[in-house]
Amino acid sequence: MDKQTNTVHTQQMSPDAYGALNMPVYHSAAFGFPSAKAMADAFVGRTDAPTYSRVTNPTVTYFENRVRQLSGAQNVFAFNSGMAAISCTLMALAASGKNIVTSPHLFGNTVSLLKNTLGRFGVETRFVDLLDSEAVANAVDENTACLFLEIITNPQLEVADLRILADIAHKRNVPLVADTTIIPFTQFGASALGVDIEVVSSTKYISGGATSLGGLVIDYGHFPQLYRSMKFELLYNLGSYMTPQVAFMQTNGLETLDLRYRVQADNALELAQRLRQVPEIKAVNYNGLPDNEFHEVAKKQFGGTYGAMLTIDLEDKQSAFEFIDRLQLISRATNLFDSKSLAIHPASTIFGAFAGSQRRAMNVRDTTVRLSIGMESVDDLYQDIIQAVRKD
Ligand SMILES: *Cc1c(COP(=O)(O)O)cnc(C)c1O
Repeated sequence: MDKQTNTVHTQQMSPDAYGALNMPVYHSAAFGFPSAKAMADAFVGRTDAPTYSRVTNPTVTYFENRVRQLSGAQNVFAFNSGMAAISCTLMALAASGKNIVTSPHLFGNTVSLLKNTLGRFGVETRFVDLLDSEAVANAVDENTACLFLEIITNPQLEVADLRILADIAHKRNVPLVADTTIIPFTQFGASALGVDIEVVSSTKYISGGATSLGGLVIDYGHFPQLYRSMKFELLYNLGSYMTPQVAFMQTNGLETLDLRYRVQADNALELAQRLRQVPEIKAVNYNGLPDNEFHEVAKKQFGGTYGAMLTIDLEDKQSAFEFIDRLQLISRATNLFDSKSLAIHPASTIFGAFAGSQRRAMNVRDTTVRLSIGMESVDDLYQDIIQAVRKD
């Protein structure tokens, strides 16, 4: 069946009492059972009947099943934020004395999770240049819990070759875990590129216009430890499972995901091409531009689309601030892939708590403005950027 058809026709687990065409929101903390035996079966995983909404809920399961069908994954877990999905995945795989190999170019909270939170529990993080396969191979050893990366780093827009990283990891029987937030999982085959586990902030493209926070773990089943820890330990102990009303909103988001993405990615490419002609803009960074350093590897991996985030560099920090202040249509906000376009100065916000030297090491520049491109007309976005960039 065609993917889009599949997206809007996932079967509900049991027939609905009223024949509801949308999966209802099951706002119930607990679920009843016909017998002690049925209850015991559900609690130890012999059946998948819902028990308690901290660990399973029919509306959330329905959302997970849709993602499972669309991704071809073996298991999908939905969490109440991208950070919950990432932290639960790393906690399922790592332990005191183990290490995680990753890039220094990561989402700010993920860096802090690794360095501060997991570091406090005895997990070492080895930050290496993932574009340097020798350095990666040297960092991975028998105590490596996973090789972790973001498929397009933010805001550097760096793209590592997943196949090369997967080969290094798999030689040591180490899972390759990829944060694929930046390109929807429906647009490319992460598993075919060697990714074992995808983590996604579904807050971004999937939520459908920034309606809600959410996270996904998409597990291709190559490392069964993940499923066991998630299902029987972390969901129970950490309590960060998605809530049913969010699952309802994000199920609706999935139905329009590919349509919205196509418009946003096309808009981003068109704008990137136009903005590089503007003299006040010193650089436009977008993987879709043919002369971008990572264009070829991005093209090979991500099915010919390049996401809806780009960055521009202006003269200096003051110009970047003035530009953001003058925007009229584009909102001053964090977040990515809302239907509305958004602008932010990463160095002073998302990375504001880092020292200048740390920011330089991460290549987060004072001159950079990050733009998340929405579904407005490209002409209107272009006009807004032009009026903001020109100091008349
Ligand atoms: C936003 C984001 C996260 C965190 O997701 P939340 O849903 O905000 O917790 C993680 N990784 C990337 C790449 C993101 O863009």
